[in-house]
Amino acid sequence: MRGKTHCAVGIITGIQLSLIFSQPIIPTTIVSSAVFSTLPDLDKSNSIISGIILKKNFSKFLYKLILFFLDIAIFLVSIKISSSFFISAFITFFTIIFLEKKITHYNMRKALITGTLFLLSIILFLAKVNLSFIIPFIIFSIFPWLRHRNFSHSFFMVIIVYLIMKPISILIDYEFLAFLSSFMYLLHIICDMFTRQGVAIFYPFSKNMISLGYIKVGGKFSNIIENLIIFILFIVTIHLMLKFL
Ligand SMILES: [Zn+2]
Repeated sequence: MRGKTHCAVGIITGIQLSLIFSQPIIPTTIVSSAVFSTLPDLDKSNSIISGIILKKNFSKFLYKLILFFLDIAIFLVSIKISSSFFISAFITFFTIIFLEKKITHYNMRKALITGTLFLLSIILFLAKVNLSFIIPFIIFSIFPWLRHRNFSHSFFMVIIVYLIMKPISILIDYEFLAFLSSFMYLLHIICDMFTRQGVAIFYPFSKNMISLGYIKVGGKFSNIIENLIIFILFIVTIHLMLKFL
């Protein structure tokens, strides 16, 4: 399922759940529904949620900038080692070729996303924000390094989301938040189960990718089905609103 479909399905379902459980629909309802329905895909560097944390164009710019300064540093070091300009240039040339093969934009982007989340948690810590708000940033900062659709897409992680959101929901006096967040997270996993690739829902106990469908993400058929689901959920929400409000 595409990121924007996860997000739309998440927001609509968040509104529906609030109506069913007679909970207020506040900005936190919408934001947490959008965030937690897309969060599992933080294990993919080109997902919507990764793009929100760090724009791809910006990480490409940073990547080129870091490589540029690294190249200069290598040249300066090699010129110190050897007094001959030609030998230095030779060493620099091959070291740069080797490094640029090893340090890809993909890997550096993952490191930058992790770094951004980690930096945010340090800023929050220095601002003396309650530790409950910092823990999620630390946990999710490891996501870019996880295998796609494994730990991030497991029942185990749904429980962790509930446990880390519970103290926050008490602190902000919106106890529905813990249930809402974990439900949105689970919804993402269930939606992904209907794709051909499936998800390792029982990870770390089993690495088997469980799939209940044959939908290919990004395919024409998949896009039609996804748009249809959003349309149906939208109609159901309008119906619920008329019934409950
Ligand atoms: Zn996913």
